[in-house]
Amino acid sequence: MSAITMRELTKVYPGGVRALDALDLEIADGEFFALLGPSGCGKTTLLRTIAGLEVASGGSVRIGERDVTGLPPGKRDVAMVFQDYALFPHMTVRDNIAYPLRIKKVDRRSRGSKTADTAEELDLSGLLERRPGQLSGGQQQRVALARAMACHPQVFLLDEPLSNLDARLRLEARTFLKRLQRELGVTTVFVTHDQAEALALADRIAVMEGGRIRQVGTPTEVFRRPANTFVAGFIGSTPMNLVDARVHGDELAVGRARLPLPDDSHGRVTDGERLVYGIRPEYLDYSPTVVPGALTGEVVVVENLGSVSLVSLDVPADDTGADDSGADDSGAGDAAGAERTSVQVVVPEGGEPEPGD
Ligand code: ATP
Repeated sequence: MSAITMRELTKVYPGGVRALDALDLEIADGEFFALLGPSGCGKTTLLRTIAGLEVASGGSVRIGERDVTGLPPGKRDVAMVFQDYALFPHMTVRDNIAYPLRIKKVDRRSRGSKTADTAEELDLSGLLERRPGQLSGGQQQRVALARAMACHPQVFLLDEPLSNLDARLRLEARTFLKRLQRELGVTTVFVTHDQAEALALADRIAVMEGGRIRQVGTPTEVFRRPANTFVAGFIGSTPMNLVDARVHGDELAVGRARLPLPDDSHGRVTDGERLVYGIRPEYLDYSPTVVPGALTGEVVVVENLGSVSLVSLDVPADDTGADDSGADDSGAGDAAGAERTSVQVVVPEGGEPEPGD
């Protein structure tokens, strides 16, 4: 069993930065788990604290049945792959892969066979005598993975594993990594700031902010049912529109517009209740003419995204309800108090308006 359990895990760096703030998290045995969040939210610190490369200031880390909080990295049975792969440039691929086995004093014969087996699994058999400088980025990444795998650790920790690869290679490596993790079934935690990567690869994702976990869920859960406005605004290739709304019978009143109440909200909201309405730009339709009951606004920016365009509209405050008195402070944030609100719509190719429409 190699589940990872963190309880009230805290890391305060010298100088007082609280990078992890009494964080609770459970990662299941065999899970492919992503840590996602904006720069500085504590992802790398969390990974390094699981690895034992950072000493926790408080709380605990368990791997399986063992409390590893006070153990050095070498005693935790974890392998970490660093963003820059950290290969030894003067060693061959063979020696790089065999290095951790040597440190563990594995005898020469089984070292040789384990290195050869791992190299074969990662399609590196033909490259064993080369040095890292003679390899492509993708090959270097596979050597780093091979080095991590050779010892058959209980847990893999991957820090931005794909960020050094170009866009095409990245997609290839993504598929490869997912297949490998499925085959090995080893609990794997990876850090990324690329949400498309997290959504594509992970069984579950933890979205972090300011050293805390804001939501843990499957990719579908964090995308479709964000737990708060932070996650709603962070997940999605285009940020979710968040506007002030009021429940009005079976509809939502957004300023003068009337929008259908989502099916699953029946029974969970009361008539007259004020809330923040989140709707993804992909789920709004754009019409060049004014439609009664719809949000209206002026087109300010049109961004071409390839097969679709992202249209930003400036919607007057009285159309988003932002000028209603009595707005609560439950995260309505940007919308409340603003005189105009920007609402974004994804428009299929050919239907794009011009700024000023
Ligand atoms: P990024 O995506 O930019 O890599 P991250 O989410 O991985 O960011 P961390 O690197 O874990 O974030 O940093 C979390 C916070 O801790 C940041 O405010 C950072 O400045 C601070 N921090 C990280 N390492 C140290 C250190 N060695 N000493 C002091 N503060 C640090």
